[in-house]
Amino acid sequence: MARLAQTAGLTDIQQEILSTVRDFVDKEIIPVATELEHRDEYPQQIVDGLKELGLFGLMIPEEYGGLGESLLTYALCVEEIARGWMSVSGIINTHFIVAYMLKQHGTQEQREYFLPRMAAGEVRGAFSMSEPALGSDVSAITSKAVKDGDEYVLNGQKMWLTNGGTSTLVAVLVKSDEGHPEGTAPHKSMTTFLVEKEPGFGEVRPGLTIPGKIDKMGYKGVDTTELIMDGLRIPANRVLGGATGRGFYQMMDGVEVGRVNVAARGCGVAQRAFELGVSYAQQRHTFGKPIAQHQAIQFKLAEMATKVEAAHAMMVNAARKKDSGERNDLEAGMAKYLASEYCKEVVEDAFRIHGGYGFSKEYEIERLYREAPMLLIGEGTAEIQKMIIGRRLLEEYRFQG
Ligand SMILES: Cc1cc2nc3c(=O)[nH]c(=O)nc-3n(C[C@H](O)[C@H](O)[C@H](O)COP(=O)(O)OP(=O)(O)OC[C@H]3O[C@@H](n4cnc5c(N)ncnc54)[C@H](O)[C@@H]3O)c2cc1C
Repeated sequence: MARLAQTAGLTDIQQEILSTVRDFVDKEIIPVATELEHRDEYPQQIVDGLKELGLFGLMIPEEYGGLGESLLTYALCVEEIARGWMSVSGIINTHFIVAYMLKQHGTQEQREYFLPRMAAGEVRGAFSMSEPALGSDVSAITSKAVKDGDEYVLNGQKMWLTNGGTSTLVAVLVKSDEGHPEGTAPHKSMTTFLVEKEPGFGEVRPGLTIPGKIDKMGYKGVDTTELIMDGLRIPANRVLGGATGRGFYQMMDGVEVGRVNVAARGCGVAQRAFELGVSYAQQRHTFGKPIAQHQAIQFKLAEMATKVEAAHAMMVNAARKKDSGERNDLEAGMAKYLASEYCKEVVEDAFRIHGGYGFSKEYEIERLYREAPMLLIGEGTAEIQKMIIGRRLLEEYRFQG
């Protein structure tokens, strides 16, 4: 972007990575995104290109074959990619969360076994908390693991797995009663299992079925699926971190960086909507002049650009906070909340600027209009973000009187 969404203080390496990604987005993603999206086609060629650029290993430490970059670099890359096509950023997001969880919480053996192949994009990650009856209320999970010798037997149904079909490693959160007596708080009796599987649909491992793609209004191309565990046997050494009962905290840590990522996606989609709106407004004439010369449209553009700037600044702040080693739940929650709401509003304004043509599938804004709502839901809805923000504020500003 020429003027908006600049980030001060980037290193030469960060700038080089971003300019490479931006170039890739402009040449390889934007020209084909809308056509692929309308066909709901998996962007294999784009994914192969991202692999070559090393993006699947961007944040994986160099000792495991990754680029060892920061969350900020990652988020800025995601912003660029989402500007091209949000679904592509979805393809790398769950992979990134699982790699992050392995890096932070995995045993040495798990890190050595998975991370080098994840950095190369050979093993691709998905993460699974949601179930048909729950999304926000993770503590209500009913899928269960029961110990049987040196294995666990998993049963239950999961819902809404982004990359459920294409992934080969799923981090699955289930209840585990072993070592956690009846009455243990739900979040202390959950365990993350690292479940390897074949890519594709149907029975992808004995006891594990991926039924098929969920048909969605937008966010197409990337596969979103259910996952059914029916007597799925997982060895004890595939419990993330080697001990049961830590799954809730591990997942919440993953979701926290995921929220920065969703904020970055909101920034990228909003930027693209602004680009489309500002360009169309200078080409379309009504009442003898370009609509950009009507003050009402200029005001819209002013509001859109201000939202793009504000969302970008908050997203960068949240990423930098995490990179500095500090807790960033407040900043990540605020950034995710603001960026997703602003994204929806900027897209809506760009759509209005397009008049009737915005409703035509020939115009890119039609796709963005169907994509933006997903950001209001994924990685926690606006209400959930506000709950996190509110609780954290009350901790920080405890009444001393
Ligand atoms: C395209 C897509 C991809 C997804 N990918 C993944 C994935 O990869 N992995 C995964 O695990 N999940 C995934 N999800 C699931 C997503 O995280 C959930 O949909 C989301 O957390 C909301 O949960 P829910 O749909 O069950 O809504 P619910 O939790 O049922 O909420 C319904 C409504 O009630 C509101 N609400 C709920 N509780 C409260 C409260 N206490 N106070 C006020 N309001 C409340 C919510 O904000 C919402 O408006 C995906 C979802 C979509 C749509």
